[in-house]
Amino acid sequence: MAADISVNGRKYRWMDHPVVAVCVDGCEFDYITAAVAAGVAPFLARLLAGEGTCFIGDCVIPSFTNPNNLSIVTGVPPAVHGICGNYFFDRERGEEVMMNDPRYLRCGTILAAFSDAGAKVAVITAKDKLRRLLGYKMKGICFSSEKADQVTLAENGIEHVLERVGMPVPSVYSAALSEFVFVAGVKLMERERPDLMYLSTTDYIQHKAAPGTPLANDFYAMMDKHLARLDQLGATVVLTADHGMNAKHGADGKPNVVYLQDVLDGWLGGAVARVILPITDPYVVHHGALGSFALVYLPESVDQRALRDRIAALPAIEVVLPRAAAAERFELPPDRIGDVVVISRKDSVIGTSAGRHDLSGLDVPLRSHGGLSEQKVPLLVNRKVAEQPATRRWRNFDAFDLGLNLAR
Ligand SMILES: [Zn+2]
Repeated sequence: MAADISVNGRKYRWMDHPVVAVCVDGCEFDYITAAVAAGVAPFLARLLAGEGTCFIGDCVIPSFTNPNNLSIVTGVPPAVHGICGNYFFDRERGEEVMMNDPRYLRCGTILAAFSDAGAKVAVITAKDKLRRLLGYKMKGICFSSEKADQVTLAENGIEHVLERVGMPVPSVYSAALSEFVFVAGVKLMERERPDLMYLSTTDYIQHKAAPGTPLANDFYAMMDKHLARLDQLGATVVLTADHGMNAKHGADGKPNVVYLQDVLDGWLGGAVARVILPITDPYVVHHGALGSFALVYLPESVDQRALRDRIAALPAIEVVLPRAAAAERFELPPDRIGDVVVISRKDSVIGTSAGRHDLSGLDVPLRSHGGLSEQKVPLLVNRKVAEQPATRRWRNFDAFDLGLNLAR
């Protein structure tokens, strides 16, 4: 057995049986309790009833997918790993870019460290956008369900995934994209039996359907079956989420949006302020790139304090902070955020200019995330956990600490 592994300032114990961390994208805790109440998630019900361990933890802000997935696999906040959005304004290059490229990562992952030390490691993600970040410097199996038909032994450490999973490549906008992750994860556990596995789903269903609705309950029933199988195969299973999810619309079903770029253009004149929405990614049909977190870049000529006060007075806004204060409070890399950080309230989202958001794909009232209102996430373990101080602030990026160090 290998020695403990140190990664980013934390020690992780070498596993004596497989450990699986599952990041259920957009898993507001209510989805779990509602599915359990409806009787469709018997395995999760057992965990909640005391067979396992259950905490409510905090995700990192912005409550978006990439920053949180990277926090989970590195065990540290974005201030350390550097990924603070799906999308950002690269000041060095003077351009707005996706943060999908591993060159933006500032530290290694727990997965890579264990693979280096000889553990069998596997990563399956729904969307391909995360694959290269999650698989950064990792030896082992790493693929996405989105591109499961393009896997090669050289690039992904596995081949013939479609045949093995027995499903066609799912649409990127479907529940099946996540189901594929679970089916593949179970197949790997049955045959390859990885020592350490990370499964990451997509929040397509959570953007569409509120907790307790038939669509949501079907999804959690599907998940429950596969989690139960992983448990049966002897794995320690830790389930957490990258962020929660809330309704962001009025009673009329229309989204509550502050188009901040339009507002600032009105106040300051056009092309003075630059509003960046880190939720932006290549897959925006189900949320129209509308979330509850925005960054504002300003020239030095603007009186930032006065502007912050003015933004804070807008009815939909919950928090407005200058760069340094936001970096400190949310543990973000100061060089990769705006001069001003703006967070909207639970029922509202922030847009850039109205004309830049295509809302035609929103076939149901908007549900989204990004703010403080989506910070609470579940942490469930299918094991008892060594006693911890009652004051401990649980984070979703404690998932591997729970699975490797604390689960009994
Ligand atoms: Zn997400």
